[in-house]
Amino acid sequence: MKPIGILGGTFDPIHYGHLRLAEEMLELAKLELIRFIPAGNPPHRNAPGVSALHRSAMVKLAIAGQPAFVLDEREVAKQGKCYTVDTLKELRSELGNAQPLCLLMGGDAFLQLHTWHEWESILDLAHIVVGYRPGFPVEERGTAPKLYEHYKKRLCSVEHLALQPSGGIAELAIPKLEISATLIRARVADNRTIRYLLPEPVANYIYQHHLYTSC
Ligand code: ATP
Repeated sequence: MKPIGILGGTFDPIHYGHLRLAEEMLELAKLELIRFIPAGNPPHRNAPGVSALHRSAMVKLAIAGQPAFVLDEREVAKQGKCYTVDTLKELRSELGNAQPLCLLMGGDAFLQLHTWHEWESILDLAHIVVGYRPGFPVEERGTAPKLYEHYKKRLCSVEHLALQPSGGIAELAIPKLEISATLIRARVADNRTIRYLLPEPVANYIYQHHLYTSC
């Protein structure tokens, strides 16, 4: 069974860093599709600059041309705090215990995983696929000891991801684009160009709705 990828994020706004990460992972991990799940009210970081509905609408515009990318709005629709562990439990019950699920994330997000709610349960509900910068894989130094312990024990090849429903950690060397949502928000607030940092329909949406005019 081909694994299904899950890419959560605030997407405030979505940009080519997210889209290239997803495209590379789709190809290298041979995923069936990737569900983009915009966070509703993320518990572990500051409140996003714009509403979940706007962030979700921008994801929809950004992925419109790639049939293997799907918008999943379940977190946006929820009231109150939303935890990844609960979203994974829901997906597990909808898609069945045999379906391989891969939670996709950049290396920066992986190094913070031990701060997430019930993070050790997350490791049992899905595989984790980490996109790290070529030449800078996960290292013991700079990784929380408990997280590094799981990493050593669970490290597997991408081929393994299709063989088990969950529990592995795979790494993929993916060139990181030096683009962040923070950079885009700051540029809009400063009246500077954001062209080629994100898809044009998303940039147009930002201007039409006067988003990010102040940081
Ligand atoms: P912000 O600047 O507001 O913190 P962000 O651009 O880092 O936002 P998030 O929505 O927080 O975006 O990130 C969602 C996921 O995308 C995370 O797993 C993160 O590691 C990954 N990601 C973000 N930017 C990049 C990038 N330029 N290249 C590869 N992965 C990225």
